[in-house]
Amino acid sequence: MSRSCTSSGASAGQAFAAGGHHAPPPFDLGAWLRTSTETWAAGLDPVGAGGLFRDRRLSDLIDRTMSGSPLYRRRNRGARCLADFEPIAKTELMANFDEWATDRAVTLLAAEAFVADPACIADAWLDRYLVWTSSGTSGHPGLFVQDGASLAAYDAIDAQRLRGNGIGTSTLGWWGLGRRFAFVGAIGGHFAGHVSFERLRRIVPAPLAPETHMISVLEPLTRIAERLQAIRPDVLITYPSCGAALAQLQAEGLLNIAPQEVWLGGEQLSPAQRRTLQSAFGCTVRNAYGASEFYSIAFECALGHLHLNDDWVVLEALDAQLRPVSPGELSSVTLLTNLANQTQPLLRYRLDDLVRFAAEPCACGCAFPVIEVHGRCDDTLQLPGRDGRRVSILPLALETLVEERTGLSRFQVLQGHGADLELRLDPTVPNTRAALEACRVAVAAFLEGHGAVGTRIVLSRRAPMQQAGSGKLRRVINAGSQSRPQRVRA
Ligand SMILES: [Zn+2]
Repeated sequence: MSRSCTSSGASAGQAFAAGGHHAPPPFDLGAWLRTSTETWAAGLDPVGAGGLFRDRRLSDLIDRTMSGSPLYRRRNRGARCLADFEPIAKTELMANFDEWATDRAVTLLAAEAFVADPACIADAWLDRYLVWTSSGTSGHPGLFVQDGASLAAYDAIDAQRLRGNGIGTSTLGWWGLGRRFAFVGAIGGHFAGHVSFERLRRIVPAPLAPETHMISVLEPLTRIAERLQAIRPDVLITYPSCGAALAQLQAEGLLNIAPQEVWLGGEQLSPAQRRTLQSAFGCTVRNAYGASEFYSIAFECALGHLHLNDDWVVLEALDAQLRPVSPGELSSVTLLTNLANQTQPLLRYRLDDLVRFAAEPCACGCAFPVIEVHGRCDDTLQLPGRDGRRVSILPLALETLVEERTGLSRFQVLQGHGADLELRLDPTVPNTRAALEACRVAVAAFLEGHGAVGTRIVLSRRAPMQQAGSGKLRRVINAGSQSRPQRVRA
């Protein structure tokens, strides 16, 4: 069993500082050196070297999965190449969790016990793994176990592609060395963004460790702005909707910070949001696309296009009958294969997002394929506030709040052209009326805490609206908003 934590009441920082009861986050030096070198070589020659690495990794992954995962072996008898694997969804993986991994010590009971304690965030689990949870956008929260090899791959991609300008940038070059980082996101639980950020903070040796600050996106926007004003971060890391709302405050003179870079993820970034951010902060805005299932799927080039890390991840863009769509066409089904993680394998995993591969190569010269992502795109609500000012309610804050307080994931909050909100629930939710009421109570308290006044919350019997085409569920919709915020770091 994991050494895990012994102090469930204390914060991670307190407990860590107090007695070292926490297993340090996993870091595999051998894997780190190997993957850094290979990622660097693939960056020089994505098609040739990158293709060779991809083929070797895929072959190793299939061998390891078929020999070590009872679940994959049972449902894909005789599979030898990727196309032999039946697509699989999170629901099935979570329902067969104990048979999924290639390590029999990875069990649902043990993993759930670990993530139940927020004091263990970024601790090594079973002495060698990192664990994070996904949000329940699709109605099924997931539990993802990262081994040393997959973490090394994320580190290499982050350092060389996401944060570097191409190749050769070391992890320490972009991380640490006196820079001040502020992370505004879903914190307090084992969410991928928080866990990754906390791991990086802890694995960098003390003299080089960066100054890091965590701010909960559940805080009212004005309080987030006050914290940022006091911190004056060099790098601001957040979701597009939150970044855009903060940029608006900066433009209005209510915030005055001068970050050198803004790193975005977790949602779709709209062109309007990018313009707002660049004009307010006048700095580099770096977008990325990732998911709990593979943390660094694509990185953004200088031209603002997302390039797929196809030496480390396979994305298949398919139609509804699971046939490949042509470049330039939007997928109906997107399948992800994680080439880095052989402990909890993901082969032909159904992603919620839809993707389109560009038909033409990118003018930036980078040969990694260009993709366009249609992902999470909820709206920011604008409500009347106590002092006559508008109160912005960020979609991820509201979604996290409802999930945490009620356990519900298939819900929808709609704002029409007025200030009232309508609450809808998926009809499959048992005891809908009581669940709606619990949702209403949670949302009402949240709005009050954010200074919104005069908003009525109406419980609706209607089913949530689905997105045309994809059938995806947008959980926070502002009918009066023009913004259509892309998705990355969950
Ligand atoms: Zn490009």
